[in-house]
Amino acid sequence: MKKVRELTPKKIGLNAWSNQFEKISVEIIKKYKYYNNNEWGIYLSPPATFMVYGARELKRLKFDNSFEALRMWGFVFNETERLFRARQINKKVIATMGDLGTVPVLVLSFPDCVPFYPECLWWTPFFKESTDLLDTASKLGLPEATCFSRAVASAFYKKSYFPKPDLIIASTGASCDDYSCVMQNVEDMGYDIMWIEIPYRKSLEFLLTRPKQQDLEKTKSGLVYIKKLEEYLVKEYHKIWQALFKLTGVNNPHRFLETIKKVNRLRSLVLEIKRMNSEADIAPLPALELMTIEFGNLYGYADFDEWVEIVQMIHDMVKKRVEKGIGVLKKDAIPIAWVTPSADPYLLNLVEDLGCRVVETEYVINQAMVQIEEDIEPFRALARSFINASLIGSTEERVKNIKEKIAKKLIKGVLITNMLGASHCSMETRIIEKLLDDVPVLSIDVPAPFGITQQIRTRLEAFVETIK
Ligand code: SF4
Repeated sequence: MKKVRELTPKKIGLNAWSNQFEKISVEIIKKYKYYNNNEWGIYLSPPATFMVYGARELKRLKFDNSFEALRMWGFVFNETERLFRARQINKKVIATMGDLGTVPVLVLSFPDCVPFYPECLWWTPFFKESTDLLDTASKLGLPEATCFSRAVASAFYKKSYFPKPDLIIASTGASCDDYSCVMQNVEDMGYDIMWIEIPYRKSLEFLLTRPKQQDLEKTKSGLVYIKKLEEYLVKEYHKIWQALFKLTGVNNPHRFLETIKKVNRLRSLVLEIKRMNSEADIAPLPALELMTIEFGNLYGYADFDEWVEIVQMIHDMVKKRVEKGIGVLKKDAIPIAWVTPSADPYLLNLVEDLGCRVVETEYVINQAMVQIEEDIEPFRALARSFINASLIGSTEERVKNIKEKIAKKLIKGVLITNMLGASHCSMETRIIEKLLDDVPVLSIDVPAPFGITQQIRTRLEAFVETIK
């Protein structure tokens, strides 16, 4: 590829990307492939290709102009094709749901098993600018009073977004009730679901009995928990291991250790990208790409090895940008934190256009950010890593990092994106607003496709004015 690396970093639209793409040589295009397959595994395409295939929102979005980001988008948008290919070449496709980032570590420890998260399809109505999946969900008995995760029930119903999974592992317990209802509907459609229970991590003051010191443990990030939680999760993970053993006929603990190392490598790369992004004078990467990278930690977009290489490439590019003092936003962009992922990716672009930069996030996926200990028994290590989950603890614990950054004056405001119709998120939003009362906090409901009105823009503009 000629010159693209030397371009000044900026955000560009589809036409500009198509022009840049013409400069990429065939050798480079053939170099990157999923499942390491030379014949049909190529995924580099100009983003406009995916718009033609139906991701119509891409025509409104702006992307980082680096080759590294192009590689990432080509890979991410190719996921549906990849999952169907996986089935064609006899890989086992495993749906993992609700735990956000831990069960895939077990799945990846078995050869030719590809984990994926059906709930990530909640972005699809926005990318496709279509209410079809949401309307179908209403017909299936999940009306507007349920969050966008109801798109998942429609995807199972329609059978065209991913192949029928060989195994579906869904978490229940300390998970969201909206999502649980969605999955119960999927079960009613005739899908077999293996339920595992994730426990609630109670704060000590809420425990009925005062536990003895020897019954307590502390995660590396300082969360105190009852050891029984860990034991409980280990039992659940053993159940999953047995199910995967039955499915594949393979039982190789060594591979489990290797997977943990690989997962840790990805997690540390992503943490470092986040750190560089928040500390640099000029934001080296746009928020849209950053959110996509954070979510990749969950399962590697259905080809974990290739995803790690993509993130390594982005990491190296971000490092160079930081060293050169260049980036994609203005130097005076206002630092904010973003709480709960936005189902509509366009909002991330919009907030940056209004003059903000995202320097901290709480997307309920921090369990997929922590290092899994490599020097203790691996099931226990996996359980301990999950105990850090922001989705199984109190709201106070969830916003701790943001509060710390506010205290250091590194964050000037917090934006919370609620899901329209979500019960779980909106309940927690009010508590978060109260806890973060040291800075202006704006919470907005993410409307269904085509719903970003002038009123929402005006509220965002007013928020930016307040924190300037
Ligand atoms: S209500 Fe919130 S936590 Fe629950 S599925 Fe929807 S977005 Fe996720």
